Amino acid sequence: MDRRNFLKYSGLASGTLALAGISSAGFVAGRNKDGNTGFGRTPYGKDQFFNRKPFLVEQPTYMKVGTPERIGYLDHLFRRNAELRYHIFSYGREGFQKVRDEGPEKLPEPLKSYYIDNPSAFEEFFRAMDRANEQKANWEKYKDRYMLAEAWSAAHASPLGAPGAFPREPRGNPEESDFSGVNEDSLKLKSPQHGSRLIKKISHLFGATLTGITKIKKEWVYQGALRGRGRGDFEVPGHWKYAIVIAIPHEWESFYANPTYGTSHDAYSMLRFISGKLETFIKKIGYSARSHIPPTSYDLILPPLGIDAGLGEQGRHGILITPELGANTRLAAVSTDMPLEPDKPVDLGIRKFCNKCKICAEECPGKAISFAGSPYKTVRGYKRWSIDQDKCYTVWNSVATSQPRGCRICLAVCPYSRKNNWIHTIAREADPRDPTGLVSSAMLSMQKNFFSYPGGKEYLPPPEGNNKTYGKPPDWLRTEEWFDI
Ligand code: SF4
Ligand code: SF4
Repeated sequence: MDRRNFLKYSGLASGTLALAGISSAGFVAGRNKDGNTGFGRTPYGKDQFFNRKPFLVEQPTYMKVGTPERIGYLDHLFRRNAELRYHIFSYGREGFQKVRDEGPEKLPEPLKSYYIDNPSAFEEFFRAMDRANEQKANWEKYKDRYMLAEAWSAAHASPLGAPGAFPREPRGNPEESDFSGVNEDSLKLKSPQHGSRLIKKISHLFGATLTGITKIKKEWVYQGALRGRGRGDFEVPGHWKYAIVIAIPHEWESFYANPTYGTSHDAYSMLRFISGKLETFIKKIGYSARSHIPPTSYDLILPPLGIDAGLGEQGRHGILITPELGANTRLAAVSTDMPLEPDKPVDLGIRKFCNKCKICAEECPGKAISFAGSPYKTVRGYKRWSIDQDKCYTVWNSVATSQPRGCRICLAVCPYSRKNNWIHTIAREADPRDPTGLVSSAMLSMQKNFFSYPGGKEYLPPPEGNNKTYGKPPDWLRTEEWFDI
C-alpha cells in the first residue's frame, strides 16, 4: 500500500474507531425520548415552557358574584349568526333587507327573545354583513395580491368543510375531478423553480417533514383501476405531470416497539391532512391536483416516486429509507400539472449498505425478507429488493395488538431508523462519503452490539413467541401503567 493510501485508510480506520468509541455516548443520547426527529413534539416532557408551580392557587382567578348559570347556545356568536342566517335565507333574496327592517320582534323563538334582550347584537350582525358585502365587491381589486393568503386559508378550512373522507375521493374522469375547484383567475407563475420553492415551503408549513418533487413516469401509475372511474385500463392522464412526494415519521416510540404496539395509521391520518390541504392550495392557485393517500387510496406507487424525488433509496425490506427518518418514512403524494422544478435522485450508499446488513431479514417474524447478497428480483422491468407480501400479511394478522394489526419490525430494526442525535448525524454524513466500507461496518457493529434483538418469531404471541417488542413500549401504550389488569 502506498503512503497516500496508507494515510487515507489509517485516517478512516482511526475515524471509525473514534466513531465506535463515542458511540456509547451516542447511545445514551439515543435514549432521550425528546431526541426524535420529525413532526410535532413528544409527550415526554420539555413541552411545558413555563414553570407554573410557583403560581398554583386553590381558586381560579375569575370572579364569582352570583348564582352561576349554564350558557345558552345562542350566546355562541357563530351558532346565533348561523341560525339568523338560516332564517334570512328562508325568505330568499329579499330576506336580508326584510329581516333587518322588521327587527327582532318578527323573529322566531328563541332568536326573538335573544335579540330583544340584546338589540345591539342584532344591529351588529347586519353591520358585519354590510362590511362583508363591501369586501366581496372589493375582491376584484385585491384578489391578485391576496391570492396566496386566500389559498392558504382555504387549504386550512378544507378539512373542516369536507363531508366524509378527507381529502375527497376523486369522482369521474381525472380531467374533471382533478380540476374541480381550480381557480381560473390564477396568475402566471414566475418560473418552475418558484413553483417548487413555494410548494415545499407550504407543504412543510402544513406539517410535512420531507418534500421532494419529481416527474411522474408512467410505470409508477397503477393500471387496471382508476379512482373515480373504476375498473379498466387507462392512459396516464396528460396533466399528471409531477408528483409532490411528502413524508412524515410514525410516532417514534410506538414505532420502535412494534409489532405489539401501534399501527401505521398515526402517520396516514396526519399525511392525509397535509396532502388534502396541499391539494386545495394548489387548486386555489390555479392548477390541477389529486391526493394519493389512504383512506381514499392511490393511483401512484409512492416509494419509487420518493426515490425519483431524491428523498432516499429503497432498502432490503422494500421500504424507502431517507437519511432524516430512516425507514420510519411514510409517504403521500399530490399529482399536479403545476410547473415545478423536479429534484434529483440521491445515492447515499443505502443499497450497498443493505447488501452487507441483513438485520431486517434476520428479524422478520415471517421470513418474508430475502437474505440475497444484492437486489435479486426483476419486478416490472427493475431489479430490486422485494418482500414476500403474503408471508408479511400473515404476520400482521398473527400479532397480538390493536385493530388494524401490523408489524413494521423491519422498519424499526433498520439501522437507518435511529434518532436524529449527533452520533447518527456523523454516521449518516460519513458513510456515503466512505469508499472503503469501514464506516458502514462500524455502524453495523454498533447496531448489533448496542441494540437488543428479540429475534424472529419471538415477536408473535404464544405458542410461537412471547409477544416481545423490539423497543421498550412507551408508557402511554402500556395499559398496565394506567389500569388494573
Ligand atoms: S412488516 Fe414484519 S412481517 Fe412484514 S416484512 Fe417487515 S418484519 Fe417481516
Ligand atoms: S435493516 Fe439493514 S438490510 Fe434491512 S433495510 Fe435496513 S439497512 Fe437494509
